[in-house]
Amino acid sequence: MKIAVIGAVAAGTSAAAKARRTDKEAEIVVFEKGTDISYAGCGLPYYISGVTPSRSEIVMNTAEDFKEKYNVEVRLQHEVTQIETDGKKLKYKNLNTGETGEYKYDKLIIATGASPIKPPFEGLDLENIFTLRSVESADQIKVALSRKETQKVVIIGAGLIGLEMAESFRELGMDVTIVELEDQVLPPYSKEMAEIVAEHLREKEVELILDDGVDHFEGEDRVEKVVTASGKKIETDLVLLSIGVKANSELAEKAGVEIGKTGAIKVNERLETNLKDIYAAGDCAESTDLLTNKDVWVPLGSTANKQGRTAGENAAGGDYKHYGILKTGITKIFDLTVAKTGLDLEEAEKEEIDAVAVKIKAHNHASYYPGTAPIHLRGIFDRENGVIVGAEVIGGEGSDKRIDVLATAIYNRMTAGELFQVDLAYAPPYSGPKDAVAILGMVAE
Ligand code: FAD
Repeated sequence: MKIAVIGAVAAGTSAAAKARRTDKEAEIVVFEKGTDISYAGCGLPYYISGVTPSRSEIVMNTAEDFKEKYNVEVRLQHEVTQIETDGKKLKYKNLNTGETGEYKYDKLIIATGASPIKPPFEGLDLENIFTLRSVESADQIKVALSRKETQKVVIIGAGLIGLEMAESFRELGMDVTIVELEDQVLPPYSKEMAEIVAEHLREKEVELILDDGVDHFEGEDRVEKVVTASGKKIETDLVLLSIGVKANSELAEKAGVEIGKTGAIKVNERLETNLKDIYAAGDCAESTDLLTNKDVWVPLGSTANKQGRTAGENAAGGDYKHYGILKTGITKIFDLTVAKTGLDLEEAEKEEIDAVAVKIKAHNHASYYPGTAPIHLRGIFDRENGVIVGAEVIGGEGSDKRIDVLATAIYNRMTAGELFQVDLAYAPPYSGPKDAVAILGMVAE
C-alpha cells in the first residue's frame, strides 16, 4: 500500500501520522512545496512579536524528526504539479534542483491548504508589502521590522489575523493603522459586539479607518503610502495584507475532483472526494455546518487537524467520520478574548428560524477577587423552542471557557432553560454563584 499526501502542515501531517498508526506497513510519502513542515500557523503572530521567541517552538518537527517518529518520508520543496487519476500517479517538481518525477499511489490525501488573497492593486510589488501564512513569510516580516526605519505599519483587513497582528506590531512599538472595507472590525461578528473590540483597539492606540478600502500603494522601491478609495493617503513603512484566504483547490480541480460552491473541495463525512481513493482535508476542503447541514468552508487549524486525522485513518483502511463544525473560533486581541460559535442572527433567519439575539454583560468571576473583568455574551435563540443556535463572547479572562460551554450546549441542542440548569463550577476566582452562561440562559428564557 502506498499513501501519498500533498501538503505538510496541519492536515497533511495529521493525516500521515494517523495513517501510520493505522497501517504499520504502508509506504507513506508527503510532498511539500515549502521548506517547513507541521508548523504552527496560528502561532506566527506570537513568533513575530517575540512572545514565542524561537523559530523551533513554531516549527515543531523537521522532515527528519517525522521520518524517525512515524517512518513517513517528507519530500520538502517538492511541488506536486499534476494528479493523474488514470494511472494513479502524481507528477512533481523538485523546486531546489528543478528535477521532475512521478510517484505512483494507491491512496491520495490532498491537504494543500489555503493562500492569502492578493487583489492586483497597483503598487503591490513594492517592497515591504507582506501577507502572513508560512514561517518563511513571518521570517521576512521579522527582518523588515528589525530595520530601524520601520516605524509605521498599515494593516489591510480587520479580520482575526489583522487584529492579532495589530497587537503584535504594537508590542514591537510600531504605529498601527488598520484599513477595513466594512463599517466595522471583525465583519463576521455582530455590530454591537464588534464595537467593543473597536473601542479596545482605539484604547491601545490603533487607528481604525473603517468603511474604506485600498485603492493603490505608492512608493519608490519600498511602499511609502497606502491610498484609499476615499482618497486618504496613509504614510507607512510596511503593509500587511490580511483580507482573507482562498482554498488551494486548482490542482484537485484539474484532476477532476469536484469543487463545492464555496470554492473548496467537496468531501463526505469520511473525507472522501468524488474520485475513488482520493481524500481531501484541511483548509482546501469543505466541511458541513452541523446546524444547517449545508456545505461550508471555514478554514481553521482545529478543523484541519480533525479532518487530517480522519482522512489518514480512512486512507489506511479504517472508518472514521468527521461530522462537521459549528464554525467555533477564538482569538486574543490585546486584553480581550473574542470568540464566536454557531449561527449569527442573519444566518439563523436565512434558515427560517424565528431567531432572537439576547445580550448580557456579566463578570468573569466574583467582583471582590482580584482580576475581575467584564464579559459580554450574546446568544442567538430559536424563539419557538428556546434552543440556543449561536453565541459570541467578548471579555477578559474566562471568556474562553464560556464559548466552549456554549459550543457544547449548541452541539447538544440545549435550551435557554437548560443553560441555567447546567451545574457549572463556582468559586470566587473562577466565576459567580450564577455563571455568565446561566445568566444568559435566565435572561433568554
Ligand atoms: P496549510 O497550513 O495551508 O498547509 C498546506 C500546505 O500545502 C502548505 O505548506 C503548502 O505549501 C502545501 N502545498 C500546497 N500546494 C502544494 C503542492 N501542489 N505541492 C506540494 N505542496 C503543496 N486557526 C485556528 O484554528 N486558530 C487560530 O488561532 C489560527 N490562527 C491563525 C493565525 C495565522 C497568522 C494564520 C496564517 C492562520 C491561523 N489559523 C488559525 C489557521 C490555520 O493556521 C490553518 O487553518 C491551518 O494551517 C490549515 O492547515 P492545512 O494543513 O489545511 O493548510
